[in-house]
Amino acid sequence: MTNYSHSRLNTFGQCKYKYKLQYIDKVKVDIPTTVEAFMGSIVHKTLEKLYNDLKYQRVNELKDLLVIYNDNWDKEWIDDILIVKKEYTADDYKKSGEKFITDYYNHYKPFDQLTIIGLETEDTMLLPDGNRYHIRIDKLACKDDIYYVCDYKTNRWMKDQAEADEDSQLAMYSIWVKNRFKDAKKVILLWHMLAFDKEVVSERTDEQLQKLQDETVAKIKEVEGCKEFPTTVTKLCDYCIFKELCPAFKHEAELGEKTVEEFKDDDGVKIIDEFSQLQTQKKEVQTKLADIKTKLVSFAKQKELSIVYGSNKKASVKQYFKVVYPEDKQDFVNLIKEKGLYDEFSGLNYLKLGPRIIKNTIDKDVIGLTHKEEDYRVSLSNR
Ligand code: SF4
Repeated sequence: MTNYSHSRLNTFGQCKYKYKLQYIDKVKVDIPTTVEAFMGSIVHKTLEKLYNDLKYQRVNELKDLLVIYNDNWDKEWIDDILIVKKEYTADDYKKSGEKFITDYYNHYKPFDQLTIIGLETEDTMLLPDGNRYHIRIDKLACKDDIYYVCDYKTNRWMKDQAEADEDSQLAMYSIWVKNRFKDAKKVILLWHMLAFDKEVVSERTDEQLQKLQDETVAKIKEVEGCKEFPTTVTKLCDYCIFKELCPAFKHEAELGEKTVEEFKDDDGVKIIDEFSQLQTQKKEVQTKLADIKTKLVSFAKQKELSIVYGSNKKASVKQYFKVVYPEDKQDFVNLIKEKGLYDEFSGLNYLKLGPRIIKNTIDKDVIGLTHKEEDYRVSLSNR
């Protein structure tokens, strides 16, 4: 039995290599977090304090709340925290957090719209496969028999309705709410988009929740059956705390530490520079070959030759006809089938078959007739 969480499954979906480092190998790195995540956690803590104090009828003044926020920030800040957007400083992030809290405070004061049931909940929910799912609700509240699963978002992009309606995190939490609070007639998923001082809400039917739970169990099965953990490079890599350990970025990080001379002398740099040069030459040669072929054909046609002679080599020039197939492949396939020609002319689709054999998701007798060999694909792109 394992404890799964939204962020654990999300990490698996984002990059299997990161998942392995974080959840299987449990690697510890010097960079503890990103500034965005740090600011988010301090804002969360401040709003948790606001609502915890309210339980004791203490309504903090905004200025007191901002003191709490700033104190927490100063106490917990360490210089290793990763700032990706170098044009902004830690202080810029700190100030945006202050603004989020100020807007939230002014919007909701005196904070009596809903009854608070739980803050930063710490619980797990049993899944049908025996695993557990971590339930961490920023603010669970209700108004009579309508429950609200609330999430504070410090993102700088606004969640739209389609995204909210697709979200699996709060939707999974709402299953837990429905199981636990039997009077719940409705569970509203509510995101406080703090950067915009706006709310986004969504709801799920019982059928949608059942489907989501089934999908979550299926995803966990995929995680548990996973044997290969390749890297997936995306824009999110800039925010990955494992970047310096990652095969996709380790060399870049090493080069960043080198002097100009050491950089030029690096074996990797030399190989890639030579490779890139050869690729350029290859393209130039291919263009020249296409030109020379055109010239050769026109020379042969003009002189009515089928073989053209050089100093040591000769070239035969033979005319043939190539078939140009219709653009709509499906219509063509249908016609071939209709004419009873499909079995004779259709071939094995190795492009589709290969991945199924690699992933062991096809009949084992088929797999048994093949074997796997290590190979490498190499592609060049700009840094
Ligand atoms: S840097 Fe990117 S590719 Fe590497 S582990 Fe992190 S998310 Fe994966």
